[in-house]
Amino acid sequence: MTGLAEDGGLLLPRAIPRIDRTTFESWQPLSYSEVAFEVMARFVDDIPTTDLKALINKSYATFSDAQVVPHVHLDDLHILELFHGPTLAFKDIALQFLGNLFEYLLARDDGFLNILGATSGDTGSAAIYGVKGRERMRIFILHPHQRISEVQEKQMTTVADANVFNIAVTGTFDDAQAAVKKIFSDIEFKKSFRLGAINSINWARILAQVVYYVYSCLHVAGHEKHSAVAFSVPTGNFGDIFAGYIAKKMLPEGSIRKLVLATNSNDILTRFVNEGDYSLAEVVSTSSPSMDIQAASNFERYLYYLMDKEPDLVREAMLKFSVDGKLYMQNYLAHIKRDFVASAISEDEVQDTIARYYEQHHYTLDPHTAVGVKAAEQHRDQGVPMICLATAHPAKFGATVERAIGRPPELPPSLAELEGKPSRCEVMDCSIEVLMAYLESHAQKNP
Ligand SMILES: *Cc1c(COP(=O)(O)O)cnc(C)c1O
Repeated sequence: MTGLAEDGGLLLPRAIPRIDRTTFESWQPLSYSEVAFEVMARFVDDIPTTDLKALINKSYATFSDAQVVPHVHLDDLHILELFHGPTLAFKDIALQFLGNLFEYLLARDDGFLNILGATSGDTGSAAIYGVKGRERMRIFILHPHQRISEVQEKQMTTVADANVFNIAVTGTFDDAQAAVKKIFSDIEFKKSFRLGAINSINWARILAQVVYYVYSCLHVAGHEKHSAVAFSVPTGNFGDIFAGYIAKKMLPEGSIRKLVLATNSNDILTRFVNEGDYSLAEVVSTSSPSMDIQAASNFERYLYYLMDKEPDLVREAMLKFSVDGKLYMQNYLAHIKRDFVASAISEDEVQDTIARYYEQHHYTLDPHTAVGVKAAEQHRDQGVPMICLATAHPAKFGATVERAIGRPPELPPSLAELEGKPSRCEVMDCSIEVLMAYLESHAQKNP
């Protein structure tokens, strides 16, 4: 629940457990929740088995597909659909679990938590759905007023639970994010209101995401009688693909042959993998907004493994990056290329990919998934099944999809229901004083 470590760094487990081949193969018949338990139990030593199982089962019971994360087979690609949770994006997989986990830990210690975060769309709604209706948590989510999609806004503001506070701030996402950071840096305020974060640097989120790599590997490798698979991952903050990297370390040698890192034109991570160049550029808006990111918040976790687990080297590199806005890592290039391959995908390629899959397979990709699928096509190897992570339902990004296929994507029931629901949201100036005053009057306080 700490989020950041006290020195400002990110937390990692001391060691990554290794699964031997016999154990791994014995997981073949397990359900998603059963695989989740096997994976998570290897990292958790302070929650009794029955409780952990119950937390996992409850978290995935809210998914609309019985398999939780079903596979769709299109020619020689496998699409792993991660969007059957309540807000139709893959972030539900981690945040449904995190909501239950936090509530459990808070009940155990008789505590409470006020969660504060800024969102450019998907994380905010997934966090709200993870936390709504819970007794020991209140959640305050800032979004840039009138700068997120209508669906995203509706998803957040139609939640009626009294512990959910939507705040639309005038300004951009960066303004909102900067305000949240400022408030968190006020240690006294943070302490007295027990402010917590739920952003992508939380280790428990990464852990919950490791599960679907393991599950998918079992499913596809078993199905196709292969011992190795590859994954293509639409990437922004490096959380999702970092979970894949952890899965690769855990599973028997060679089980995950390749990780394809796919970015949109915000390509800092692609430049890093291909040229060792991690230098900030301007953020540009694309049709895959959840990947419109430059500095990837989980990146330093990978640096730790890249730099032989020497925290001092990581600290030095991150300091240098915070001053210069760039790191040149050509010395590590051979190592990086053993871990990842990467492609940056243009807006035209995204449109073309969505159109092509619709015409050839009657399958509708959302723009984020299309970035990963296009990159997967560029990095396929004969005889190694390629699994593309589908990170959002196409209806969440209806306008882009309609432009590509000439008609709006089908609305799933959970989105259709939002139509006409009353919505609730406070519009405010993005000023620290205004926001802090609002928190002071609405956050839960020490009794
Ligand atoms: C968050 C998000 C991503 C990027 O995931 P990271 O963990 O930030 O790399 C991709 N697609 C969708 C739909 C998302 O919401």
